[in-house]
Amino acid sequence: SKAKVFEKGKGTDVTFKDVAGLEGAKEEVQEIVAFLKNPQKYTDLGAKIPKGAILVGPPGTGKTLLAKAVAGEADVPFFSLSGSDFVEMFVGVGASRVRDLFKQAKEKSPSIIFIDEIDAIGRARGKNNNMGSNDERENTLNQLLTEMDGFGTNSGVIILAATNRADVLDKALMRAGRFDRQIYVDMPDLNERKQIFEVHLKPIKLSKEMDVDFLAKQTPGFSGADIANLCNEAALIAARKDKKAVEKQDFLDAVDRIIGGLEKKNKIIT
Ligand code: ATP
Repeated sequence: SKAKVFEKGKGTDVTFKDVAGLEGAKEEVQEIVAFLKNPQKYTDLGAKIPKGAILVGPPGTGKTLLAKAVAGEADVPFFSLSGSDFVEMFVGVGASRVRDLFKQAKEKSPSIIFIDEIDAIGRARGKNNNMGSNDERENTLNQLLTEMDGFGTNSGVIILAATNRADVLDKALMRAGRFDRQIYVDMPDLNERKQIFEVHLKPIKLSKEMDVDFLAKQTPGFSGADIANLCNEAALIAARKDKKAVEKQDFLDAVDRIIGGLEKKNKIIT
């Protein structure tokens, strides 16, 4: 979510191997990869390729990662922007950013546009929000809808968006021919946490006693992002103690730290 407004349409080197768990979501986006790789296969049969899909799920569960993996697997450029970048923007800037982004993506099609935190732009109209000006948010949303309607089904640009709050989104976004697919990206269960650990432990030098089952059991309620953070935190703790390998205790200390952090975060929210 810290992505720059434009990641100037570079390819990504993320693939499905980097995305642990999320089997259902990966299966659903497989079809998008297939469209991007070989649009003609679909259009020759008269099929209309969907324009977009919304990835819905809690923070840190891998929505951005999955969108990048789609671009990586299809080997197409990835353009991204985040809804929160439009907060407190001057009048006209949001809409013109959206216009520019679509223009660039079309020039480089087949390509992916990824809009993170789409709820910051796409909240149901006429409600209060944290944007600088309600009008400006509406202009940005309207421009997005115009762009989506404006390009043909077979432009080769697919738009993925992500949100934690599908319930607040303007229904106009979900209409047929816009984001007419929702893909759920859930918090990982025990087995998925194990798989996420396997990805993030790879670069880390572990003591022999370490086992992934143990770590997965110690981390209920952790998202993929929390697990990535935990692995790095444990390595930092071990390094501070001049250890040659990261031990179980370092992970336990890191778990305590992260749970402390999560509790603080929740206190602020409630
Ligand atoms: P947000 O809603 O906060 O934007 P997100 O769902 O987009 O979060 P990501 O930004 O994709 O989450 O995840 C952050 C990082 O956490 C990833 O770059 C990756 O290192 C790790 N991560 C999250 N989910 C997974 C996963 N399923 N497999 C492997 N790593 C993951």
